[in-house]
Amino acid sequence: MKIFFDGDKKIISSHIKNIIPNIVLKFKKGVIYVDGFKKGFISNYIPRISAIDGVLRIDTDLDEIAPLSSTKNFHFKKPFNSNRKFIIAGPCVIDNFEIFKKTVIELKNLGVNIIRTPLFKPRSSPYAWEGFGVKGIKQLSLIKNKYKFISVMEILDYRLIEKIYDVCDIIQIGARNMRNYVLLKEVASTEKVALLKRHPYATLKELILSVEYLAKYGAKKIILCERGDSFSDGIPSMNINIIKEIKKSFNIPIIADISHSAKNIKKSFEFALKSFRYSDGLMVEVSSEPNNSPIDTRQVMSIEEFKNLLNTL
Ligand code: PEP
Ligand code: MN
Repeated sequence: MKIFFDGDKKIISSHIKNIIPNIVLKFKKGVIYVDGFKKGFISNYIPRISAIDGVLRIDTDLDEIAPLSSTKNFHFKKPFNSNRKFIIAGPCVIDNFEIFKKTVIELKNLGVNIIRTPLFKPRSSPYAWEGFGVKGIKQLSLIKNKYKFISVMEILDYRLIEKIYDVCDIIQIGARNMRNYVLLKEVASTEKVALLKRHPYATLKELILSVEYLAKYGAKKIILCERGDSFSDGIPSMNINIIKEIKKSFNIPIIADISHSAKNIKKSFEFALKSFRYSDGLMVEVSSEPNNSPIDTRQVMSIEEFKNLLNTL
C-alpha cells in the first residue's frame, strides 16, 4: 500500500502507526510504503488513514485488498472444460416451454452444451413479467433430464438456491446483484459454479472485491462475465480492458455477454469479434423464436443468426 502525502512525515507516520498495529513503514519523497499488514483486512484501516491531515491519496494493489482472488486458481475442468473457450447460449427468459425445448434441441445440434435457463428475471418495471419463477422448475427439469445439458440460471434471492438446486448447474449472479453480498455469500457456500456479472461501470477493483466474497465464502469454481455499461436501452458498450486485466492478473475465466452489452444483433456480432480472442468465451441470447421473446427482443438471435456467428468465429 502506498500513501501519498504532503505534510510532516513524522506526524503522519505516527498517526498511521496508531491506526494499524505492528506496521512497517518505508519512505520515499512524498510517499509512505506500508507493509506487514494482514492482506484483505487493510480495508478496516483505509478510511481512518485517508482522513489523516496531509494524506492525499492511498493506492492499494489488488492482492492487498483481495488476496484470495489474486492467488487462487479458479480455472476448472468440471463440469465442463473452462480451459477452452466456451459458449453459453439460450433465451433471455423461458417464456414458453415448447419454444424452449426447440431451442435446446437446435443449440445441442450446434454443439452448445451450456444453456441459459432463466426462470427469474430482474425487471426495471415492477409491472413487467418476471418469468415463470418456481412454477417453471418442474417443466425445466423434464427438459433438462431428457436433453442433458449444463444449465445456467440467475437467481435474485438466496432463498431460491434450495429450490433450483437440481435444475441449475451454474448459478448466475446478475449485474444488478454484483454487490448483493448476502447473495454472494450464499451462492459461494454451494457446490455450484458461480457466474458473476460485472455491474455497469463497476471498476476492476469493485468486481474483484465481489469475487473475493465468493472466494472467502467457499466458492471453488467462478466464471466472470463482462456485460457492458448500461441496462435496458443505453448506449452499447463492452469493457475489453476489464477482460484483458482479468486475463493478465487472475486465474479466473471471464466471458463476454455480447447480447446485453450490444443490445442488437448487428452490434453483437461486432462485440463478439472484438472480445472473443481475449475472453474465455461468450454468452449469447438465442431462441428458435426470437421475435416472440417478451424481453430483449431486439438482441435475441435466431438459430440461423447464431449459426452465422459460430461460423464467423
Ligand atoms: C441476463 O443475463 O439474463 C441478465 C439479466 O443480464 P445482466 O444481469 O447482465 O443485466
Ligand atoms: Mn436478456
